[in-house]
Amino acid sequence: MADCLFCGIADGKIKVNLVYQDDAVLAFKDISPKAPVHILIIPRKHIASVLDLDSSDGAVIGQIFQVAGRLAREQGVADSGFRVVANSGADAGQSVFHLHYHLLGGRQMAWPPG
Ligand code: AMP
Ligand code: ZN
Repeated sequence: MADCLFCGIADGKIKVNLVYQDDAVLAFKDISPKAPVHILIIPRKHIASVLDLDSSDGAVIGQIFQVAGRLAREQGVADSGFRVVANSGADAGQSVFHLHYHLLGGRQMAWPPG
């Protein structure tokens, strides 16, 4: 989609620190990390948010969570613990309207989140 930052990243027009890619999914380091491990995992397909998922998107969401587990192991936070979070809408603080999951780990986290 034109003017979408994460579509630009998926198309290779905007350079990021890529840590994983396949036909459907891309993962890269967050530019403003909120934890020692902070990776964004996105579908290549433009989906604006959780609210815009449909039944054909099940496979890519499953793939995103498999990649999250693989990266958690690779980044050394599988045993210590980590979060996989999708912010949706204003109250949750979503700032980029291309679906993405934050993989966060490497420090103690609070619950409930702020
Ligand atoms: P959210 O606020 O949940 O929509 O998350 C958007 C995330 O994208 C934020 O954590 C930003 O730091 C991150 N971000 C924005 N631009 C870039 C970029 N060019 N490369 C990597 N991460 C980015
Ligand atoms: Zn997009």
